[in-house]
Amino acid sequence: VVVALGFESETFGIAGAATHALEMVDIPSAKKVQDHIVAKMKQYGQQKEENLLKIVVCGAGFTGIELVGALAENKATFAQTAGVEVEKIEIYCVEAMDTILPMFNEGLQDYCKKELNKLGIHLLLSSPIKTIEVGCVFYGDNQKLEAGTIIWTAGVSGSHVIADSGFEQRRGRVMVNPDLTAPGYENVYIIGDVAAVMDEKSKRPYPTTAQISLKTGEVAARNITFQLRNKPTQAFHFKSLGSGASIGNTDALGLVGNMAVKGYPASFVKKMIMNKSLLETGGTKEFFAKGRFDLYH
Ligand SMILES: Cc1cc2nc3c(=O)[nH]c(=O)nc-3n(C[C@H](O)[C@H](O)[C@H](O)COP(=O)(O)OP(=O)(O)OC[C@H]3O[C@@H](n4cnc5c(N)ncnc54)[C@H](O)[C@@H]3O)c2cc1C
Repeated sequence: VVVALGFESETFGIAGAATHALEMVDIPSAKKVQDHIVAKMKQYGQQKEENLLKIVVCGAGFTGIELVGALAENKATFAQTAGVEVEKIEIYCVEAMDTILPMFNEGLQDYCKKELNKLGIHLLLSSPIKTIEVGCVFYGDNQKLEAGTIIWTAGVSGSHVIADSGFEQRRGRVMVNPDLTAPGYENVYIIGDVAAVMDEKSKRPYPTTAQISLKTGEVAARNITFQLRNKPTQAFHFKSLGSGASIGNTDALGLVGNMAVKGYPASFVKKMIMNKSLLETGGTKEFFAKGRFDLYH
């Protein structure tokens, strides 16, 4: 059995987060976010209620930052739909910690903050969200932010099916053996975002990323072949090629190996990483259908 149930949105028990905020975890939920914003902009046209023009993104991790960057690039379209000046569209990002993108160094974090500032994003740091009600986020010391659109991107956990199945787990992730089998089961492999695989170098589990998930799939497949041939299985090792976060279409920041990159070159690298994944997982058909060839705009 190979368990690869993936991630789901994690609300950490914050009241209203699951019910009064939109999640963004896959293409259908991303489309829902887009449709919701457009509907609110149209609604403004009739009701002239300023809060309908506000968008709040909860969380300044990878997803939150990439989302506010993309939203900022679409401000003009939103404004046109609402029939207002671009400056009237307000985008907020509310974050509990005093910084953003904790996986990157301070230099890259500062670069990102500057770029978000240029895009007019209101970044509220050290602002833990307490509750979310219909059209309203309560954060920090009883401060509130009203908005027509609230999107929850503050975290993910492994699938709830993992806990329901009785595996020993933490936030839906099982601490697997080095060869990716579940403790106590040599015929059950757990891979991808539901696996916590210890990185012997950092003494911490590897992060949950697509790059690592794909690699766990490869290693599990190889180990199953070894088992069928009565050979010993091999331990999982991963050497990161790098990682990046986009800020809109032509700006990004990240690491290529250990080298920090930012701006247009980083956005080029990010698109190349996506293209490489498409090619590896879906072959040339998928690559040409979904690849990022918009490298200069
Ligand atoms: C908005 C967003 C952006 C991201 N961007 C990046 C990025 O740029 N780079 C990167 O490396 N990572 C990124 N990630 C993380 C990356 O998507 C995950 O690490 C990766 O998808 C995990 O792969 P997986 O195969 O373990 O799980 P998933 O991709 O979640 O796949 C799990 C599959 O199992 C199915 N499934 C779930 N429950 C059941 C069930 N009960 N029965 C049957 N099927 C079920 C799901 O429908 C899904 O198809 C991003 C994540 C998000 C949310």
